[in-house]
Amino acid sequence: MSVNILLFKKIMIRLLTTVFVLTMASPIWALELILPESAYQGDMIVGRIVPPGEVWTGGKALAVSEEGYFVIGVPRDRKSDTVVLAKNNHDRIKRTIRILARKWRIERINGLPKKKVSPDPAALRRIKADARKVNTVRSSPPYPLGLFVEKGFSLPVKGRVSGVFGSQRILNDKPRSPHRGLDIAAPMGTPVLSPADGIVRLTAKDMYLMGNTLIVDHGLGVRSIFIHLNRILAKEGDRVTQGDLIARVGQSGRATGPHLHWGVFVGSVAVDPERVVKK
Ligand SMILES: [Zn+2]
Repeated sequence: MSVNILLFKKIMIRLLTTVFVLTMASPIWALELILPESAYQGDMIVGRIVPPGEVWTGGKALAVSEEGYFVIGVPRDRKSDTVVLAKNNHDRIKRTIRILARKWRIERINGLPKKKVSPDPAALRRIKADARKVNTVRSSPPYPLGLFVEKGFSLPVKGRVSGVFGSQRILNDKPRSPHRGLDIAAPMGTPVLSPADGIVRLTAKDMYLMGNTLIVDHGLGVRSIFIHLNRILAKEGDRVTQGDLIARVGQSGRATGPHLHWGVFVGSVAVDPERVVKK
């Protein structure tokens, strides 16, 4: 009798130990979410979910690549933290990214003639039609591959930075929209190299403000726009690699001298190209 009880005890201990070990070891379906703890206004956050699952932020599902990469654009004026929800059929993780404020350059210019501040109706119509073309590309479904993830971003032009992201002009007390890109001054005809791998999505000539314009899609909602170009050398649908010659610097549209305006967007959110390159 006592021997049987002893055996029973032994078996029970083994069984309980096995159950304990199995529950303590992380199950294969456990989610891992790789994200920074904080980010600055105007940052492009590249996160990863392992294994790939669903990722949500602000009530919207994000594009997730096969490797689990996804991108969040932090707007310039974002005041609140960003909550990210990751889930699969077995698990869910909620994470908060602290958003850190930046100081933006503000330039006030008063006493300008009204005509210079507000464009006439005909110009306004052209400006709106141009914006629609660009917005159609920006709001199109994200290309599902993170083409830029492996190599990251590099500067498309060598030159002097003549305008930073986020700066704002206030003309006659009317705030203009903040500068949504990086200006690099360079001589006319300087090569513009693709800052990252991607697919050419738009080539447009003679836009009213932007002049000759090119958009490259880097995947997962990340797109580069190049404006004021002299010549566009890439064609819509071209697959480009980081460093490929895609255009030449010009001063088409409303530009006071030859320079490249390079904008980076995550969906419709403009992010700071200089910070995108640094990462
Ligand atoms: Zn610019």
